[in-house]
Order: sequence, then structure tokens, then C-alpha cells
Amino acid sequence: MIDEGELLTRVPSRLLIDGAWTDAATGGTVPVTDPATGRELARIADASPGDGLAALDAAVAAQDSWAAEAPRRRAEILHQAWRLLMARDDEFALLMTLEMGKPLAESGAEVRYGGEFLRWFAEEATRVAGRHQRNPAGTGTIVVSRRPVGPCYLITPWNFPLAMATRKVAPALAAGCAVVIKPAELTPLTTLHFAALLQEAGLPAGVLNVITTSAAAAVSAPILADPRLRKLSFTGSTPVGRRLLRQAADTVLTCSMELGGNAPFLVFADADLDRAVEGAVAAKFRNGGQACTAANRFLVHESVAETFTERLATRVRAMRVGRGTDDGVTIGPLIDATAVRKVDGLVADAVRRGATTRCGGAPLAGPGTFYAPTVLTGVPDGAAILTEEIFGPVLAVTTFADEDEAVARANATEYGLAAYVYTTDLARGQRMIDRIESGMMGLNAGVISDPAAPFGGIKQSGLGREGGAEGIGEYLETKYTLIV
Ligand code: NAD
Repeated sequence: MIDEGELLTRVPSRLLIDGAWTDAATGGTVPVTDPATGRELARIADASPGDGLAALDAAVAAQDSWAAEAPRRRAEILHQAWRLLMARDDEFALLMTLEMGKPLAESGAEVRYGGEFLRWFAEEATRVAGRHQRNPAGTGTIVVSRRPVGPCYLITPWNFPLAMATRKVAPALAAGCAVVIKPAELTPLTTLHFAALLQEAGLPAGVLNVITTSAAAAVSAPILADPRLRKLSFTGSTPVGRRLLRQAADTVLTCSMELGGNAPFLVFADADLDRAVEGAVAAKFRNGGQACTAANRFLVHESVAETFTERLATRVRAMRVGRGTDDGVTIGPLIDATAVRKVDGLVADAVRRGATTRCGGAPLAGPGTFYAPTVLTGVPDGAAILTEEIFGPVLAVTTFADEDEAVARANATEYGLAAYVYTTDLARGQRMIDRIESGMMGLNAGVISDPAAPFGGIKQSGLGREGGAEGIGEYLETKYTLIV
């Protein structure tokens, strides 16, 4: 049993700049709180724009030697980090539950998932290949080489504090890039603890720098404007992503963007309904619904809608909401009071427009910021819950009459991250792969993330891919040389 208080004393609370844990230049700090209790867990350094630039200076200074390091050595450090993480999985899981709220079992799953990025990209580090061919005119040789893009700025959200960090840090380090990472202000402790683990694994000073701040925009702006920065990788909301892309235009900065989603979950009349209910629970309620891949709109064939919904509502009524550290809890708190107000507003709007609440439908008493797992049926077109990311444990069901209507409704969104389709008809499944506009799809699967697969969206869900063979490519640039 890990002692929470003792663990928190071991988590760094300062900025990591050039290998040294450093106070913010102003001496300022900000609190980090437990969303399940409202209790302050720690106070951490509140970086100013000057601190951010100092972190970039350190990354720039470390860039050349890290890029020149043997790929095998970079791989060994990532492998060692993975081993250390697995040896301390319970500790990282507890830390994530404390600062973010998810149940311990889910935090444990995130440690394993997040850890896999270290192992996967350790393996990829030694497999970066270019190509070499005679030119068509026969007068020379085309040589294409892949090189680290250079110093990177990595910005992560609060909902998966470890996995969002490892999914960027591991490929960047594997490719030979030095980085500055800025975790979300609501959940910075996991990234700070992970940075200390990377130091222990042998990462040289300056290769990874961490800044924490309550002023994300002010601290990020000078970093983004600095021509020494060569890459921005951002995971977060679409509005912030758009704003960062505008800023990146000034230096023609290479960008990877993992943004919001509005995943459809289609259940056809020929679906295995037990599997569909199982998949729906995972796709909707994992992380309390606070996932970019969370199923946001349930589109169910009218002939099976009632059976599907009732089976689902039975499962949802049995869910246990509470502090993620308590035994048997399946749904933790929402991240903060703003999130509760937003989710409640979406539910109230849907009900006002005629939706029926099958279960839940209201915030739960505190302390802590909890919302009852909710199932809404008969959600009419025009309800905001069908167009906005819910980011909470609320499942909204609508129906469709035929395949064309299902596809049209599924694609009626500016987002295109994940989609889920349940059908036992193979030909229909193949048509859905072609017709649904999303970067990722679960065909009879409710959880799709895999470090070995390319994660990312189309339309306004983002640019680029993380994970898979594609993931390291986001941190490499292509150089062509003609040799005659
Ligand atoms: P957010 O956009 O509010 O914040 C994300 C990060 O950006 C945080 O670190 C924040 O401090 C920082 N930030 C905010 N404004 C900034 C600015 N002007 N300049 C620089 N940095 C700034 O998102 P969030 O609430 O932390 O996370 C939830 C969102 O993230 C959801 O929209 C979700 O869909 C998305 N998300 C996407 C993926 C994906 O892979 N596509 C994964 C997880 C979360």
C-alpha cells in the first residue's frame, strides 16, 4: 500500500531546466488539487515567459549532441525508462488518480498503455531509414535521409496525464529531438514525476525540460515565436489548436495537432447487442467520458434501439461513482466545477428540447466534482449535446432508419477523430470503413488506442499521427541529396 503523503513528497514541484530542478524566476507557485475532494495536493512552480525561454535555451543547447547520440543509446534510455515505470506502476497510477480522479484500475491501465510508447519508440529509434536510388535520367543518385526535426515544444491536456506525455516524449527522444514539455495546469504532477524517472534512466541534462504554469498562453507565445523552435506537438481542444496554428504560421512551424472529437457509435440491426453494450460502456464511460475518443453520439437502428438502451441503462445504473482510490468505484469525478456546469448545461438543453432521461441527469453532492452517469434517449437534432464534445459520463441515444441515414448523421460534424461501428455484416463493415469520416474506427470494438497503431484525426480533429510506424515520422524531416 503506497502512502499518498509520502508519494507526494517525492514528486518534484519545480521546473526542470537543463537538468536542474529550478524555482520559477518570480518565485510564484500554483496549487494542484484532487478533484474528488477539493483538497490541495501540492504547490508547484508557476513559470513566467522568461522561464519558458530558459527551457527552450536548454533544449536548443542539448539538440546537437542528442541528435548525434547513437540511436541504440537513445533506445536504451527509453527502454530503461519503461522498465522503471513498470516497476513503479502502482505509484504512477495512484498519482494520476490523485490529481485527475480516474479510478485506480483505469490509472493502472493508463500506466501500461502510456509505458508502451516508451517501449515501442525505443524499438523504432533504431529503424529510421532513408532511401537511395539511381535517378531516372541515369545521371546520378538520389539519396533521401531522415533527420531529427530539432527542438520541440510539447503541450499536453489533463485527461490522460501520463499517456499524453509519453506519446509525444518517446517518439521525440527516439528521433533525436530535445524537448520542452508543458503539461496541463490541472494535472502537472505525473509529468514532473515522469521527468524525474527519465533523469534516472540516464537522459542527459537539457534533452527534456518541463515547465508548469498557470499562464499557458503568455508563456507559450514567446516559445512559439522563437525561430529556434522547429516543432509544436499539441494535444488539446480544437479552439486552442486553431489559435496555436495561427501563431505557428509566423515561423512556418511544423505542427502536429491532436484535437477534439465527436465520435459516432453506430449500432446496426444486425449487431451483436451484448457486444455493442459492452463496447458502448467502454467507449463512453472510460475516464468518466473525458476522452477525445469517447463515443459522443449513439446512433442506433430504430428496430433495436429500445433493447439496446434498456440493457445499457441497466449497466449504467449499477455504476459506482466516487473517489478513484476507493474499492469498486467505476466512475471518478469530473476534472473541475466548470466541467460539471458544462455537462449539466448540455443535459438540460437536451431535456428542454424533448430528450428523456433514463437514468442520472444531475450533478452529485460534493466535496468533489461528480456527475451522475446518465442515459438520454430521443435526443432531437439541434440539441447541443450532439454537436459539442460532452466530456462527461452522459450517453445520448438517437435512432436511424437505414444505412445512408446512419452515415449522413455520423459524418455531420466538423470533427473526425474516432468512430465505432457494430455490425455482424462484413460487407457493411467494409462500407463503413470507406464511408465514415474519421481517422480511427473500432469495428465491433469500443477501445481502439494502441501504441502500435497511428492515432489521430481528420477534419478539425487534427493533423498528424501519434504512435505506430507513423509516430516517429512526426519528429523527422526529410533531406534529399543528389550525388553525381
Ligand atoms: P485545452 O485545449 O484547454 O488545453 C490543452 C493544453 O493546452 C493545456 O496544457 C493548456 O494549458 C494548454 N493551453 C491552453 N491554451 C493555450 C494557449 N493559448 N497557448 C498554449 N497552450 C495553451 O484542452 P484540455 O481541456 O486540457 O483537454 C481536453 C481537450 O483535449 C478535449 O478537446 C479533448 O478532445 C482533447 N484531447 C485530444 C486528444 C487527441 O489525441 N486528439 C487526446 C486527449 C484530449
